[in-house]
Amino acid sequence: MNKRIFLKIFSSILLGFYLPKKLIAIESPKIINPNLTAEQKKIMFGEGTERAGTSPLNFEKRKGSYHCANCNAKLFESVSKFDSGTGWPSFNEAIPGAFKTKIDYSFGMKRIEYHCAKCGAHHGHVFNDGPGPNGKRYCNNGLCLIFIPD
Ligand SMILES: [Zn+2]
Repeated sequence: MNKRIFLKIFSSILLGFYLPKKLIAIESPKIINPNLTAEQKKIMFGEGTERAGTSPLNFEKRKGSYHCANCNAKLFESVSKFDSGTGWPSFNEAIPGAFKTKIDYSFGMKRIEYHCAKCGAHHGHVFNDGPGPNGKRYCNNGLCLIFIPD
């Protein structure tokens, strides 16, 4: 085979395999906590949702902060928590910079999905019908959160 043709094919194979993987790697979430359960992994890295009303955090009313169950990043203060009646822990404000968002078109709906800015784990969806001054409602899977009382 002609050397130039070989190099051309070889470099396009490299670009085809190596480059996209590298691009994905920047955005791909990382499992940091080795003790995550299968259910937690399904939600955080498979964009799953826990069954409504199953999280004990729905009833958590103490002062403290809510952290990412994977990387421990601080995500919410207890003052922003409110009872939305949805069956998922809900907050009207997140710690600035705690999350990155993307548009989720699954189930025929257009929703804003958010994930931990530090580790990339999926946490929930944010809606514009919240009670606070900014009108946000962060609907978070309880399994993705760790509550740390003050
Ligand atoms: Zn995290």
